[in-house]
Amino acid sequence: METIVVRYGEIALKGKNRDTFENALIRDIRERLSHIEDIKLKRFHGRMYVDHHDYDFEEVADILTHTFGIVSISPVAKCDLTVEAMFETAQRQVEELLEERPSFSFKVEARRSNKGFHLKSPEISKRVGGYINQTFKDELNVDVHNPDIVINIEVREQVYIYTKSLPGLGGMPYRTAGKGMLLLSGGIDSPVAGYLMAKRGVQLEAVHFHSYPFTSDRAQEKVLDLARKLTRYIGEIRVHSVNLLEIQKAINEHCPSNEMTILSRRFMMAIAERIAFRRKYKCLITGENIAQVASQTMEGLTVTNSRVQLPVFRPLIAYDKVDIIKVAKEIDTFETSILPFEDCCTVFLPDRVVIKPQVKDIEASESLLEVEDLIYRAVKEREVIILRHDD
Ligand code: ATP
Ligand code: MG
Repeated sequence: METIVVRYGEIALKGKNRDTFENALIRDIRERLSHIEDIKLKRFHGRMYVDHHDYDFEEVADILTHTFGIVSISPVAKCDLTVEAMFETAQRQVEELLEERPSFSFKVEARRSNKGFHLKSPEISKRVGGYINQTFKDELNVDVHNPDIVINIEVREQVYIYTKSLPGLGGMPYRTAGKGMLLLSGGIDSPVAGYLMAKRGVQLEAVHFHSYPFTSDRAQEKVLDLARKLTRYIGEIRVHSVNLLEIQKAINEHCPSNEMTILSRRFMMAIAERIAFRRKYKCLITGENIAQVASQTMEGLTVTNSRVQLPVFRPLIAYDKVDIIKVAKEIDTFETSILPFEDCCTVFLPDRVVIKPQVKDIEASESLLEVEDLIYRAVKEREVIILRHDD
């Protein structure tokens, strides 16, 4: 039988909420591993153990290291509570490592949380270290300060021995921190914004605005590809695809041309909020970033904000572009984001935009439009697409 130990840091600190978080994580892991038969999950003293008879470690490790809430994982060997069993198990692990490299330095680090065991941690380290050093005289040498390999021995209800740890993503288990409606464009920023909120446990749905037929099917496909990239972390996402063309035409016809951008942005917010209300989502999420473009000045953000009642979260507000790109590359959305398809119609975009719009001016312009009617129709005619990781 093979075992992987799953460590989760922050969620263990949550006092009486701890159960909720652990249950959410266990549910998440179970769902994500559900296609693998005969896998067992156990929770024990602030850890989880995944047991299986015959699995592909790489596959399971890949899933676990992309599950929010997990800090790290290790493949472990288990043995009985005797020093002889530890010798034998540690020896087997060293033999496996020696298949990958001819020699290495090591140290043994024992932790005894089971105080019923007769030896203390330093004594266990000393004995097992001595045994391994003796057995592999030619290949291994001890280095307590900077070893290539640490042989970890955890003495709990059983003994767990491991030499490898893979980092996880951290964060909080998905769907433990409320629901957020992400405004998802085809750009670099918004997929990253969604990822960061999801990583804190916020359940996502997405709204995308396009100007079909002025924008292409490829542009639409690009946004769905971005949403699909997020399903690697969140399993499934519902995307509401809204045509903004009629609204853009109305603005173009009736309002000052330099207000096109800010007015469309307010419509986007209003429509996203309307859909959020219907779906019982409690906040909006955007990829906005202070001072990045003309529409993202303090005044611009104030004017878009004032259109809606729900809180608007902008996790990237103070990020530098290079740092956003770094995350985009890590989550593999970057290459898709930079494909050259426009998400919304640029035909109507003016040469000049208002840099410091005022709420009263923008509201005056909006009063020239059949706002309610336009929003109602856009929401009603939206298309809903559900994407799943395994599709
Ligand atoms: P991004 O890279 O996310 O597109 P951006 O730097 O291009 O951002 P803007 O185009 O000003 O900035 O958009 C700011 C935010 O408004 C986006 O991050 C996104 O949340 C939202 N948004 C913009 N266009 C759309 C769209 N077509 N559909 C849905 N949301 C959008
Ligand atoms: Mg954009």
